[in-house]
Amino acid sequence: MSTTSPHASNLILGAGLAGLSLADALLRRGVRSPIVIADAREDFTNDRTWGFWDVHPHPYRNLVQQRWSQWSFRSGTTARRQSSLLAPYCYLPADRFYRDVVTRLRAASNCNLLLGTTIGEVCEDGAGVTVETSAGDLSASHLFDAMGTRGPTWPSTVPQPGPGVICQRFLGWFVTATEPVFDSSCVTLMDFDVTPNGELHFVYVLPFSSTRALVEDTTIGLDGIQLTEHRGEVERYLGHRYGLTTWQVEREEVATIPMLHVNRSEPSSKRLIPVGTAAGTVRPSSGYAFVRTQLQVAALAARVAEGRPFAVPVGRHRDVFLDRVFLDVLQHDPEAFSRNLMMLAKRLSGDRFARFMMDAASPADLLSMIAALPKLPFVRGAVRVGREHVRR
Ligand SMILES: Cc1cc2nc3c(=O)[nH]c(=O)nc-3n(C[C@H](O)[C@H](O)[C@H](O)COP(=O)(O)OP(=O)(O)OC[C@H]3O[C@@H](n4cnc5c(N)ncnc54)[C@H](O)[C@@H]3O)c2cc1C
Repeated sequence: MSTTSPHASNLILGAGLAGLSLADALLRRGVRSPIVIADAREDFTNDRTWGFWDVHPHPYRNLVQQRWSQWSFRSGTTARRQSSLLAPYCYLPADRFYRDVVTRLRAASNCNLLLGTTIGEVCEDGAGVTVETSAGDLSASHLFDAMGTRGPTWPSTVPQPGPGVICQRFLGWFVTATEPVFDSSCVTLMDFDVTPNGELHFVYVLPFSSTRALVEDTTIGLDGIQLTEHRGEVERYLGHRYGLTTWQVEREEVATIPMLHVNRSEPSSKRLIPVGTAAGTVRPSSGYAFVRTQLQVAALAARVAEGRPFAVPVGRHRDVFLDRVFLDVLQHDPEAFSRNLMMLAKRLSGDRFARFMMDAASPADLLSMIAALPKLPFVRGAVRVGREHVRR
């Protein structure tokens, strides 16, 4: 391979959430050595919506567009509301984040953002790493893989998202209604009043005002449903939940998020450092990744600034175990899982729930959660996960 660009100290593959956050964190840490970020995308559009609970401090709090201190779970005519003034649910549109970070990176003299650059083979030798790209080869002493599931560090043993792989799949519409029907004080996290399809199936509603909301039809399971079926479910929901017959769809967002445990206990190489999804920041039991990514990136940037660019593990051991049990119980009986969640919503406080969702549960929170859940399915799940662990 011929090297057409100067040797970068910090080469970041992928300028999505993790790659941009890492570059920004390196600048914030005072890193002055060259930072190169390469991505196939030509520009940054409002391609996703980040929701999370405001539990951990992070640098993008000022970009949050809306906060709700109440959220609900619904099934038929039953609604369970949870609330938290300490940890409200936040909405951060991706375009705000991209604009803010990219402006800072472009203004930094040591940072080079290469868009429209497709990344190919990565070769590692004693001296460093060389990456083939559509803009020529890039070399570095080590690189950060922020390419999601498509990068060089994604383990060959962990499947790519697709049919037969457990994923959260959703299609959401940003809807403007002709009448004021949405309750703008409360997010609907999960409404199970949908057509059963053998997977965990629910609708999620972020109400921006009484006439505007993001309404997402979501499945968690192996195969999901067709996009046309998702659209049909959103239409049906707008009709039967809100009595709407007409509305306008501003835009649509679609996702397939793998809900897989990415084991990072033994990194394959010290020169290839996974970040974001590649490192397992997508929480397997929920699909949430924004805050985990910020925590991982902050720790990694601190190591780089100290001259120790080593991979940073994601998630605590006990949360990893609980996530495995949750996923196991979900896969064994997806439709019963909605009853378990309704029970959890009834018995657990909003503060405890928010901390659990954001990896900040205390031992007392975890005990309350275990007490709130039906015991038998989760004990069976824990035994199956334990057995699986012993077999490996
Ligand atoms: C629609 C949607 C909604 C989501 N909502 C939430 C939410 O509410 N809360 C939450 O916590 N998480 C959410 N997530 C999950 C998660 O936060 C995001 O997927 C997040 O963007 C993952 O960050 P990442 O940097 O790992 O991957 P990405 O942001 O996907 O970045 C990967 C980058 O790698 C680039 N790339 C890949 N292959 C190549 C190649 N061969 N050459 C060059 N470039 C390449 C891509 O262009 C991309 O820019 C959502 C995801 C989606 C898709």
